[in-house]
Order: sequence, then C-alpha cells, then structure tokens
Amino acid sequence: MTTTPARLTVLAGPTAVGKGTVSADIRERYPEVWLSVSATTRPPRPGEVEGVHYHFVTPAEFDRMVRDGELLEWAYVHSRNRYGTPRAPVQERLAEGEPVLLEIDLQGARQVRETMPEARFVFLAPPSWEELERRLVGRGTEGPEERERRLETARVELTAEPEFDVVIVNDDVHRATDELVREMGLVTR
Ligand code: 5GP
Repeated sequence: MTTTPARLTVLAGPTAVGKGTVSADIRERYPEVWLSVSATTRPPRPGEVEGVHYHFVTPAEFDRMVRDGELLEWAYVHSRNRYGTPRAPVQERLAEGEPVLLEIDLQGARQVRETMPEARFVFLAPPSWEELERRLVGRGTEGPEERERRLETARVELTAEPEFDVVIVNDDVHRATDELVREMGLVTR
C-alpha cells in the first residue's frame, strides 16, 4: 500500500487535542500502519494493554533504557511521568521499508527533529482554543490542579505550530486520521 518511500512521521500537538483518539482510530481502521509503542513510567489506565498502548516500566528500568541509549527521544510530560520512544523497533521498521508513526509530545518531536530531520512533522491542531479547553475539561480524568497545569502546557504548545511541516485540524477524528494516513504516503479506504 506504500506509494512513496518509507519514512518516519511524527505526530505531535497540544495536550487534549486528541492525539490518543487519532492513534486509537489508526489502530482500529489502519492496523497496517506501524505505530511505535512508547515506554512510560506512568501507571496503566483501565483498558490499557502492556505492549499495545505502552510499555509500562519502572523508573529504574526507564533510567536503564536512557543510560543504554535505547530511546530515540524521551521527555517528562506534564512534569511528572517520563515517556520515550524505543529506538530499535523504529529503526528495524524503517530498514525494512515500512512507514513508521510516532505519536509523541512536542519536546520529543523537537528531539527527533535534531536527530532525524528527514522525518515529516505533523501538528494536530484543535479547531479552536475554546474547543481545546472544552476537551480538556470534558475529559474529566484530571483534578483541577492537574487540569490547570495541562491548560498552561497547551497554551505554550499551541505556539509551536509554525515549527511543523503539516498542520491537521482535528475537527473530526476519522477525517483527521485519513489526512494523516495520506500524509504518510499511504492510501486511505
Ligand atoms: P497519556 O499519559 O495521556 O497517554 O500521554 C500524555 C502525553 O505523552 C501525550 O501528549 C503523548 O503524546 C505523550 N507521549 C506518549 N508517548 C510518548 C513518547 O514516547 N515520547 C514523548 N516525548 N511523549 C510521549
């Protein structure tokens, strides 16, 4: 299904813009797209499966991965938990000529830009600030303090849009996913 040479695509965007929803939609409708599975020190949420959504690791194991150079990029997200992209599976897929998708935060995207500038950087944008705020509050998974911290992060993150090659507005998840899949040089259904 590849129409252009395999490449690395990095999807980033502000908190609560719906990166996780787009990832879930990709897993469901485009299982042939290889989505990197990040390592994280955050505990699993209900329904999250080890090795599918994340590799859930201890802080000591994360330290070891960093020390041994196993991560392509990593960052503290929302200043608490660490998240990182295991390097080897990404390199293996690219070497096999398969397109690869990373769904990571902005700090991670900036690190990848340093080491793999040939990657395609896609910014997932909310239809409006009000909509982003509504999604952040509506999600209801965080307390007021955490929500405020995430809103503040989102405000800063929104200003990063011009650093990206492509902007996709997440007004409708299927539409946004299809646009992303096309940006990866793949054919949509
Ligand atoms: P959540 O805890 O809601 O699953 O994810 C929180 C944030 O971590 C999201 O913005 C997500 O994009 C980011 N994230 C997930 N995996 C990685 C990763 O491997 N590296 C970086 N830098 N951020 C990640």
